[in-house]
Amino acid sequence: MKDNLRNIHRQALELVNQACELGYVITIDTVPEQPLAMGNHTMVVNVRPARQLDPVTIAMIEDEAQALADLDDKDEDEDWSCSHCGGPMHRTQIGYHNQCGDCGRMERVEREAP
Ligand SMILES: [Zn+2]
Repeated sequence: MKDNLRNIHRQALELVNQACELGYVITIDTVPEQPLAMGNHTMVVNVRPARQLDPVTIAMIEDEAQALADLDDKDEDEDWSCSHCGGPMHRTQIGYHNQCGDCGRMERVEREAP
């Protein structure tokens, strides 16, 4: 049961990475069915081309990545651990997320106040 959950999660992350590389955005939503009841829903998959980022947003992302890189230098020996399973967290190439090496959970890195 837990293996199934891990497998599906891993495959979903692979699919997300693949879509990202090819320039697509995937969303999987649960849409409620009638009568409204817990568990009475359908999963809907949506794929669309990713939007191109405008130069201002790109500059903001680069600034934030740089700020986080600076922060990283200071806190190099700090250990991140997954809030879900306690596994080791690794910084991803996306710039401001850490990913758990065990369960694949993505967590946003909060910037500390200056
Ligand atoms: Zn984890």
